[in-house]
Amino acid sequence: MGAGDELGARLKAYEGLAASVAGKGKDLVNEPMIRHWCEAMGDTDPAYTGPDAIAPPTMLQAWTMGGLSGHTGRTGAYDELFDLLDEAGCTSVVATDCEQEYLRPLRPGDEVGFDTVIESVSDRTTTKLGTGYFVTTRTDVRVGQDLVGTHRFRILKYAPARRKRKPKETRARRPRPVVNRDNAGFWEGVQHHRLLIQRCTDCATLRHPWLPGCNACGGLDWDTVEASGEGTVYSYVVMHHPPFPAFDPPYAVGLIELAEGVRIVSNVVGVPYDKVRIGLPVRLEFRRYDEPEGDDDGGPLVLPVFRVLPGRAGGVG
Ligand code: ZN
Repeated sequence: MGAGDELGARLKAYEGLAASVAGKGKDLVNEPMIRHWCEAMGDTDPAYTGPDAIAPPTMLQAWTMGGLSGHTGRTGAYDELFDLLDEAGCTSVVATDCEQEYLRPLRPGDEVGFDTVIESVSDRTTTKLGTGYFVTTRTDVRVGQDLVGTHRFRILKYAPARRKRKPKETRARRPRPVVNRDNAGFWEGVQHHRLLIQRCTDCATLRHPWLPGCNACGGLDWDTVEASGEGTVYSYVVMHHPPFPAFDPPYAVGLIELAEGVRIVSNVVGVPYDKVRIGLPVRLEFRRYDEPEGDDDGGPLVLPVFRVLPGRAGGVG
């Protein structure tokens, strides 16, 4: 340990200290939790069902987790250790690995108790993420006096490495719509700030997106009606991942039901992404993206988007 690692010495003093004492599992080992786990994992091993069912060994931690309400029996030592690391600038944390040992199977009705100890704190380590310390805790799981398993959990608490700033790049352009003879009329309408819905001239059924024929009657003739622009959010997703050039996640993608009854996928604008809700009234507007540069002959991209009407989203003025 170098002179610079006074912190390391202070951290090492936590090795062997209890992080929680005489913890109790929130539930007895039970069939419903076993069944849910097996379904989530896709584990159909017959050992986990029937009158002689055992719990999947890898569920060990499920029986000791505190849930949202937390646990009694925590000593505070682990929190103190974290505070020391935070003060030293190691403010980020990542779980790195977990090791379990199983001494005997758990069965429905078993009442689980546990103790957790801070087993080790590593020397200062530099990883790609940054410089910090690995902290390993060991939880001994018991039923009565019998040790039934151990659960080792290791985290890296670290000061994030400074990332090299990328040189300023020209912003990626949004992908262009693929215009073909079946949908050209739609995109031409958009260029003129009109949202056109196809209408079958045989049976008058409206359709979107544009298609060569009518799904209701098979008719091939159509004309268009212009959408009034009124609609509601029928459904939505918030895109976080994967990142995609020209888009800044998170953002909301809505399935908008137009007043005319057809639905269209589009961006929902005018409120933060996390304020979008099913049923919100929205109104059509047209947005320009990507002004042309140089000899770009494409011109700006115009897209229909839907703005949440002022005062209609919860908590937004
Ligand atoms: Zn039709």
